[in-house]
Amino acid sequence: MFSSNCIFCKIIQKQIPSTIIKETEDLIVIKDLYPKSPYHYLIIPKKHIENLCVIKDEELFILSKMGQVARDLSIEIAAQNNQSEPVVFNLVSNNGANAGQSVFHMHWHFLAGKNIYKDGLKL
Ligand code: 5GP
Ligand code: ZN
Repeated sequence: MFSSNCIFCKIIQKQIPSTIIKETEDLIVIKDLYPKSPYHYLIIPKKHIENLCVIKDEELFILSKMGQVARDLSIEIAAQNNQSEPVVFNLVSNNGANAGQSVFHMHWHFLAGKNIYKDGLKL
C-alpha cells in the first residue's frame, strides 16, 4: 500500500502536513505546494502506484475515481464562486522522469482559475 521514502505516502499517512481539500477511502486531494494556478490541486490515489506506465489492470478502477473527483472539484469550485456552471479545468499527468514526473507516486494535477495556454504552452 505505502512505500517508504515516498513523500505522498507520508502525506497520505499524515506524517507530513499538507492542505487537504478532499479525502475518500481511495483518494486524497491536496493543494500543490508550489501552485501554478489559482486552483492547483493534486489528485492522488492512496495506494502507492508509481505512474500510468506501470499501473496494473486491477488498479485501473482508480482512474475512474480520479476522474469523478475532478468533476466534483469543478462543481464545488463553481459553487464557492457562486457560478452555476462547473469551472473549466486542465488535468496534467506526468509519467516518468523524462516526462517531467518528480514525485513517483501517481497523481493528476488539477488546474483551474487560469488559462494555462495563455503563456504560450501548446499541446
Ligand atoms: P510532478 O512533477 O511529479 O508531476 O508533480 C509533483 C508535484 O508535487 C509538484 O507540482 C510539486 O510542487 C508537488 N509537491 C512536491 N512536494 C510536495 C509536498 O511536500 N507537498 C505538496 N503539497 N506538494 C508537493
Ligand atoms: Zn507513495
